[in-house]
Amino acid sequence: MKSSELFETAKTLMPGGVSSPVRAIKPYPFYTSHAGGSHLSTVDGRELIDCCMAYGPLILGHAHPHIRNAIAAQLENGWLYGTPTPLEPKFAQIITGDHPGMDMVRFVSSGSEATMAAIRLARGYTGKKDIVKIEGGFHGAHDAVLVKAGSGATTMGIPDSAGVLADFVAHTRQVAYNDAEALETLLTAQTDVAALIIEPVLGNIGPVLPENTYLQDIRKITRAHDVLMIFDEVITGYRIGIGGAQKLYGVQPDLTTLGKIIGGGLPIGAFGGRREIMELVAPQGPVYQAGTFSGNPLSLTAGIATLQWLHDHKTIYRDLDEKTRALEELLKRADSGSFVRFGSMFKWFFRKEPPKNYREVKECDIGRFGKFWKQMLDDGIFLPPSQFETNFLSTAHSDQDLITLSQAYIQCLSK
Ligand SMILES: *Cc1c(COP(=O)(O)O)cnc(C)c1O
Repeated sequence: MKSSELFETAKTLMPGGVSSPVRAIKPYPFYTSHAGGSHLSTVDGRELIDCCMAYGPLILGHAHPHIRNAIAAQLENGWLYGTPTPLEPKFAQIITGDHPGMDMVRFVSSGSEATMAAIRLARGYTGKKDIVKIEGGFHGAHDAVLVKAGSGATTMGIPDSAGVLADFVAHTRQVAYNDAEALETLLTAQTDVAALIIEPVLGNIGPVLPENTYLQDIRKITRAHDVLMIFDEVITGYRIGIGGAQKLYGVQPDLTTLGKIIGGGLPIGAFGGRREIMELVAPQGPVYQAGTFSGNPLSLTAGIATLQWLHDHKTIYRDLDEKTRALEELLKRADSGSFVRFGSMFKWFFRKEPPKNYREVKECDIGRFGKFWKQMLDDGIFLPPSQFETNFLSTAHSDQDLITLSQAYIQCLSK
């Protein structure tokens, strides 16, 4: 069946025809039949260079043989036990070893679950009510973090979704990214703040990079106000290097959330942090958190295989960085916007200067992006279908892929 026909059926049975909103491409999304390396194959017989990479998890590309073999070996032994497995302490050792800010870790099944639990834990530890998030920061699809920016709603939360109680999100405050002073002002006025949750590099409207000493500054400010700092490294963890943004910038958060890459392409999430905070998590402490699929053997197996591979191939990050650097070099000639990159994360913004925060990201020419995106797809390149989603490269993207990609960029940007 063709994509158009599949979508006809899907949309009568599933809201919007999809399992997650960002996949709803007009007039209908293409359906993938299989994938390998840097390529996606559609049921319509097209082969595309994939620069979405499932929105971040697949740093080693699709169907990497090392990961596939590890999963296949685990399958022989079963895939869910409801008991502890030797995989858990092994995985925990790797993750805590890589992140100086994580003494202990709890495994969950998605990034959303991780941030939800980290926020509950911060409230449980501090006994305070409010949280602060960054405008344009994305932390999954649960109530506390589904708060829209804009409308001057920097101090009072406004729900971003029907069904989210205004009463509840009133406890979610917001500040602009790259504005340490705004955070200082907010925390001086509001004394009931349990935690700041922040993507150290904004990945869900970006990448938008931290300026100067921003991350160091907000670390000082949160500490001075007795506010926990949660780094949501669900995207940046193992994406920009082993140890994530906290290692790269030398800033130690109190709690960290991980997901995406650490599952090697299978569902996962994790949160961890300072021992005295993590010891409050059930059953050791009173902050409840639980899950049937938590620490599931297949995800952990794929995760361990991925992290070991990254540890064993240390030039991966330098090589990926070099690839986006070369792309940037080529795109300097285009003048319809700005190119932003951070290791293997990159984006063309239809805005003259690289945006520094959510407000500036919103100034991008969305109409122009829509046309560009469609042209790129016609040229065989699949980019995330939004001006606000980061593009990703994997180790599977070859030099030839990069040549094809940069030619398509140059051509489509000049149209
Ligand atoms: C993807 C993402 C999440 C949510 O993770 P899911 O696994 O989709 O629930 C949370 N935070 C950040 C920064 C993300 O990029």
